Amino acid sequence: MSKEPPPGAEHPPLGTDSALMVPLQKLASAPVDGVDMGDVQVLRLDLAGGAAPGNKWFKLQPCLALARARGLRRLVSFGGPWSNHLHALAAIGRQERFETVGLVRGETSTAMLEDAAGWGMRIQRVTRAEYRRRNDPAWLAELSALFQPCLLIPEGGSGPEGIRGCLEIARTIRERVPPPARVVLAVGTGTTLAGVAAGLGAGFRVAGVAALKGASDLEQRVTKGLVASGLSAAASWEILHEHHCGGFARTDARLRAFMTEFERLQGIPLEPVYTAKALYAAHRLLQSGRWRDGLPLVVIHTGGLQGRRGYGWLAPEPASDFRG
Ligand SMILES: *Cc1c(COP(=O)(O)O)cnc(C)c1O
Repeated sequence: MSKEPPPGAEHPPLGTDSALMVPLQKLASAPVDGVDMGDVQVLRLDLAGGAAPGNKWFKLQPCLALARARGLRRLVSFGGPWSNHLHALAAIGRQERFETVGLVRGETSTAMLEDAAGWGMRIQRVTRAEYRRRNDPAWLAELSALFQPCLLIPEGGSGPEGIRGCLEIARTIRERVPPPARVVLAVGTGTTLAGVAAGLGAGFRVAGVAALKGASDLEQRVTKGLVASGLSAAASWEILHEHHCGGFARTDARLRAFMTEFERLQGIPLEPVYTAKALYAAHRLLQSGRWRDGLPLVVIHTGGLQGRRGYGWLAPEPASDFRG
């Protein structure tokens, strides 16, 4: 079990403005697989958020505020054995002195769960059949009774709080990039996309790259999520469904080749589940000419780098020629 402090624990406490100093990095003019990616900037959420870098930090902030307002010190949530959400929850819980409970699907042990347990998260295994009931009000009522007093946070940090937390991501873009511009990000539950689309004004075009295959209900989930949060999207948005590269957490040879080449030339580490697919989609759409309309492009690096450890073909740190 890891006794190490959460990565970035030496950073200033969460909740200060410094956690929101998100670097916006311009890509080097080095063609990746023959395509100069041109006027592309990457919003490095992987370098923000202190102990829990990436979009999960933003999604969790309103949950922490809600728990504090209700005087609750225990946060309970759900995830698979490689869940970035549970990993972030454990890191933030330790730093902000909340007790955390992770209800984990199945029995697989992973480096991510070891980190989480090392930071004090109580890992409670649930069967796949139980896990399927994660949105069933009857099971949620049982869990609240079992862990009370607690705040139950939906899988992946989705829900109205998660969406509202991502308005901050949009703010950091608006402050630095004038419209019109295209904003690209990877999509799991669609929560981050909903918050970003709601927080950006007219003139922004948001393209979400689905990390899952055949997630045809995503558009509806985003629309419903916005309504439930009392928000509406001023920016136009769409979900691109053809860049999953084989399905959730899967890769194909072309994605692996792109990712290795991109990291080497650009010096920006990616991971295969989300961020590599977002950059690869941008690369393909630039290559095909579909996005050669001159709109400046901002790709949101949503973090998740701790998940690289799940892939034997990847070194924990990427190889890089980059000397920028
Ligand atoms: C969770 C996650 C996403 C997906 O976010 P959603 O809000 O669920 O769409 C994207 N990238 C990374 C690195 C993540 O961990």
